Amino acid sequence: MVTNNLVKTRLILDKILDNINSGDKVGVKVHVGEAYNTRYLRHDYVHEVVDFIKSKGGIPTLIETQGIGMNVKHLNISENYSIRLGCRKTATEHKKTANLHGYNESLIGAPLKFIDGENGIDGKIIEIDGIHLKDVSVAAGLFDFDKLVIVSHFKGHPQAGFGGALKNLGIGCITKRNKFRAHFDGDLKVNPKKCDISKCNQECVQACPVGAIKIVNEIAVIDPSTCIGCFGCKEKCPVRKAIKSAALANFDIFCGRVIDNAKAVLTSFGKENIRCINFALEITLMCDCVVNPSVPIVPDLGIFGSVDPLAIDKACVDAETNAPGIPILNENGQWTKPTAPGIEKFNALNKMVNVSWQLDAAVKDRIGNIEYELIKI
Ligand code: SF4
Ligand code: SF4
Repeated sequence: MVTNNLVKTRLILDKILDNINSGDKVGVKVHVGEAYNTRYLRHDYVHEVVDFIKSKGGIPTLIETQGIGMNVKHLNISENYSIRLGCRKTATEHKKTANLHGYNESLIGAPLKFIDGENGIDGKIIEIDGIHLKDVSVAAGLFDFDKLVIVSHFKGHPQAGFGGALKNLGIGCITKRNKFRAHFDGDLKVNPKKCDISKCNQECVQACPVGAIKIVNEIAVIDPSTCIGCFGCKEKCPVRKAIKSAALANFDIFCGRVIDNAKAVLTSFGKENIRCINFALEITLMCDCVVNPSVPIVPDLGIFGSVDPLAIDKACVDAETNAPGIPILNENGQWTKPTAPGIEKFNALNKMVNVSWQLDAAVKDRIGNIEYELIKI
């Protein structure tokens, strides 16, 4: 099956990567998957993309950005066993996870570069006329490239409904500043009643990568105009509830902000320099950022390629909607009734999300075309 899909990948690349010229520096945006995730896109496919770019004389580099947060969390399962959570928050940890999943130069044939730096904060502010946002911090290293190939695993997402090309642009190509602003409303705040410098070594101040937290009159104070919402202070503070998290944004708002971010990437890099390939394989309800995304909910749908991130995501959503659902074992060990063809599966299986939120916002933000023609090869 993989061999078959690799052949298909090459056929699709032959159609869509018509814009790569000899000597072009090509960023191949990937998502290496969280540690313990079992459904991330296998490195063989990315190897095929890299190989094809080289065959055109391009110079490929795998590119990635850091997830929200700063520190790996150790979850104790038993006295002698713990698992590590959040292993993609800094370049150092992210690289280890990438290696674990085969995303390294010796297997794929291209180096991996973190375009937002070690801590995920190196950005370039791009002004936009977005639905929600007026400026976005796009990963600065993106602008070292001439062309961009967005390689996405199409699957479900617990907040966005689905993850594909739009989300890979709108979350995957920006810095922590705008990842925070997409996911949360408001700012992190210190609770002066809990903050107690006699119980700590001011770890919050040491943890902040942008100098946004200071001790004033023996209490930590966050400057909201400097804070980028990286959660480094909160993760390191040893005093429970001394730093309050911001509230999670409503999911429809989150989707709108993701699309604004994508708009900033598309307009600043140049849409004409971007190509998208979606691997609609192993399609789970959860995304590649979670530890265990469980089993696929539809059969593999194939590999999609396009110049347009909205058209390609809409085509994948339509294919997933029209596919027969796969029965899933429930907690009682019984097979559930599969979702029928014609029913959108992500919405049906997770009532908290709606796949239209991203698609509608992308239409409103005028970042692509929702109409498409599907050419099967
Ligand atoms: S926020 Fe936490 S680490 Fe920072 S000064 Fe207060 S108690 Fe100490
Ligand atoms: S104050 Fe803001 S930027 Fe600094 S560590 Fe805390 S969340 Fe990160």
